[in-house]
Amino acid sequence: MHIITSIRDIQGHIKKLKENHATIGFVPTMGALHEGHLSLVREAKRKNDTVVVSIFVNALQFGENEDFSHYPRTFENDCKLLSQEGVDMVFHPDAAKMYSKGFCTSVIPGHLENALCGKSRPGHFRGVAVVVLKLFNIVKPDIAYFGQKDFQQTVIIKRVVSDLNVDVIIKILPTMRDQNGLALSSRNAYLSEVEKKDALCLYKALTKAQSMVQAGIQNTENIVQEMEKIIHTTKSATIDYISIVSPETLEEVPMAHSGDVAALAVRIGKTRLIDNVILLFS
Ligand code: AMP
Repeated sequence: MHIITSIRDIQGHIKKLKENHATIGFVPTMGALHEGHLSLVREAKRKNDTVVVSIFVNALQFGENEDFSHYPRTFENDCKLLSQEGVDMVFHPDAAKMYSKGFCTSVIPGHLENALCGKSRPGHFRGVAVVVLKLFNIVKPDIAYFGQKDFQQTVIIKRVVSDLNVDVIIKILPTMRDQNGLALSSRNAYLSEVEKKDALCLYKALTKAQSMVQAGIQNTENIVQEMEKIIHTTKSATIDYISIVSPETLEEVPMAHSGDVAALAVRIGKTRLIDNVILLFS
């Protein structure tokens, strides 16, 4: 497995692969890898000749009072895991090279950046859009893999790719959870054992929403109220938002329809967690 830090070096490798008509599967990450990331890697392995994984904690997508400085960084272990999965290249660029002196270009994902997480994380999705676009331009993947876990991110990436005619296929894979239903996340490392149990309220609330629509209840105000009740039973939990939205526009819907998404962000103690489910009618 090649570990590459230089943009020029990886571009050289990619050029050779393209000359040999090898397909490239790409998984962008911020590291601190878990089974959720690895599920994307495994699918990329199955469908492509070559797999590239990037590990880059992107300062541009963190707000001033967010966790950039203490975001978990476990590079050696990440490389061990990726090598076991048969990944071909790990791209681990230096921030100073990604954002060199004078960098000033933004990618603004229109109204989509203001919904859901965008309300409490202004600027976050601009940071995501610009880094993903840069990575696509460097790695030139045929297929790029993202997790449903970061639902708003998937909607924005698909929109940016479509709006700017980026020549890449975007695949979204299901959220991997632990045996209790907690969505795997690098930020779960911040949680104490008690908080990990408290954090199950997110999935419980989402499961409630799913069962309500399956019982024929479509009024989203009622569904959100029931979800709030579940979160409020957990003392350490503070709701950032709970919304039921259309998956293309991210606009809240008064009546849920199959394929709409129930999404929430909840703080457990100091840790902000997100999760979502696609509401499917039986
Ligand atoms: P991150 O390192 O958090 O930026 O995540 C990198 C990629 O892994 C993103 O596409 C995430 O949506 C995806 N991912 C994170 N957690 C999970 C999970 N529990 N299941 C599936 N994919 C995930």
